[in-house]
Amino acid sequence: MKASVLRSACAFNEVVPRGDVWLFDPSDLATKVVKEVVSAVGLKPNFSIKAGNVANAGAYIDTDKLSRTIVYSETWLRENIEGSKDSYWKAIALVSHECAHHFNSDTLEILKPGSLRNFGATPGDNQKKELAADEFAGFVIGRMGGSVQNAQSLFLTLSEEGSSSHPGRAARVEAATIGWGRGRPHGHPSPVHPQDAGSCKSGAVGPEFVAGGQQCRQFQICEPEQARVVGCKENGKWVFQR
Ligand SMILES: [Zn+2]
Repeated sequence: MKASVLRSACAFNEVVPRGDVWLFDPSDLATKVVKEVVSAVGLKPNFSIKAGNVANAGAYIDTDKLSRTIVYSETWLRENIEGSKDSYWKAIALVSHECAHHFNSDTLEILKPGSLRNFGATPGDNQKKELAADEFAGFVIGRMGGSVQNAQSLFLTLSEEGSSSHPGRAARVEAATIGWGRGRPHGHPSPVHPQDAGSCKSGAVGPEFVAGGQQCRQFQICEPEQARVVGCKENGKWVFQR
């Protein structure tokens, strides 16, 4: 199916896809990824998902039916979700960013008379919407148990200057970091001192001690973020107390 009625609200790095966009039913992988993102923040999708020949993923609106759609590239998604841990979190950040445009109703704005080729009445307005979507992406990654580095990594790849529609790198990294801080689960173990970052080794730390009749000791963990946690022996296995 050719999607001539779709208008782009945000096509992450490219303004609009070149040529015709052809749409396909989404794969199980895409459906699963979107479900993970959306349920991590306790929401239900207010959009449909379609695969299509776009660069990565974007938030679109069907100008005939006024329905919201995420159009994603199956090639891009599979490569990144099934690639390295870094590429996985980058893809989660990008998909979350696009979901945010639909949740925030940004996509509906492009239907207003006088809107720019993207949504928003002015570039500044548009930039605020982009930052809100970046903050949402950081929030999702916090909720999904990713580290602050996981939340930042996609945004660190963007251009320093930004564009008329998108703010520069520093503001977008900042937005993602703020979102991540809000999304971290309550009671998550506190991170180790930043000076210890970069040389993390997982394993037992310090002597064993008895707590509540159980043999316990401290452990250094490095994923999803660096932290010290207490582990106690249960049925011969160390179980972390969170
Ligand atoms: Zn966007």
